[in-house]
Amino acid sequence: MTIEDKTITSEPAGSPVLMTGKEVARQIRKQCAAEIEALKARHKILPGLAVVRVGDDPSSVSYADRITQSFEVAGITVTVIALPANASRSVLQSELLRLNVLREIAGVIVQMPLPNHIGLDAVIDVLDPQKDVDGIHPVNIGRLSLGLDAFVPATPAGGIAILDYYGVPIEGKRAVVVGRSSVVGKPLAQLLLARNATVTVAHSRSRNLFELISEAEILASAVGKPAFIPGDSIKKGAAVLDFGAAMVDGRMTGDIAFDSAIERVAAITPVPGGTGPVTNAMLLKNTIKAIKRFV
Ligand code: NAP
Repeated sequence: MTIEDKTITSEPAGSPVLMTGKEVARQIRKQCAAEIEALKARHKILPGLAVVRVGDDPSSVSYADRITQSFEVAGITVTVIALPANASRSVLQSELLRLNVLREIAGVIVQMPLPNHIGLDAVIDVLDPQKDVDGIHPVNIGRLSLGLDAFVPATPAGGIAILDYYGVPIEGKRAVVVGRSSVVGKPLAQLLLARNATVTVAHSRSRNLFELISEAEILASAVGKPAFIPGDSIKKGAAVLDFGAAMVDGRMTGDIAFDSAIERVAAITPVPGGTGPVTNAMLLKNTIKAIKRFV
């Protein structure tokens, strides 16, 4: 039975598809490797990625390490710029202005969260949208909402790549996105809309949340509360993307109560091993796009 068959049925799903991210990420990396090879054949030295951090939040440090390792395996140089936690807004902005014009740098990421004394506006006021591989600049957000080519945040772009890889049809489907952050929920809703889904975005103030969830043929959750969505609230035969990544007793746990959900869904991403692995591969894809524009 194909996923199309399962998604449209209201009968129990039977054997659900576990949408693991590893294979999806591998396929994206393979495409990236071919593009990098072609670029390297034409250009002696490729510009790389800059990762800017203010302070030394441990999860930001390990995220930067993971990016550095995986990009260097792919042949892309990563420069990590770690500013002290008390660096001023203007110090950060001067650094970004310097990176904007540096020929060795094609893409720039500013790690979040920033310290309280620096607002996001400090970044978006100066960051060159052409180097904004994380898709946080209003120019890229605006272009995405207009359906134009843009840098799209890696996590929601990865969610769509997963649905495509596993053959989940999107057009005409009733999609519910729980969570409205600028890095996951909102851009994912735009991407689903661009693919002709009928999209509802739910959040902490939504009334009748579980009623909305029960209508979703495609359910995506980016909340960060472990097992927040019980399986019996999910529509039978739905395809489910779980972006949640909260630590419980040292184990990464998603938003969906997986054991009960698996009884009902047609397809679901596990946590860990679902949406997470695809994010890094998508960031590589975005960086190659920036490099192509730049060279
Ligand atoms: P965020 O900025 O904290 O946003 C969380 C969203 O959940 C908000 O929109 C919030 O609503 C909503 N929410 C909170 N409580 C709710 C409730 N009771 N009912 C309905 N909605 C509720 O988080 P984020 O950055 O989007 O990340 C979300 C999760 O995804 C986290 O676990 C994060 O670790 C994970 N994540 C995963 C990846 C990946 O690669 N897989 C990447 C990034 C993030 P309000 O807007 O009303 O407050």
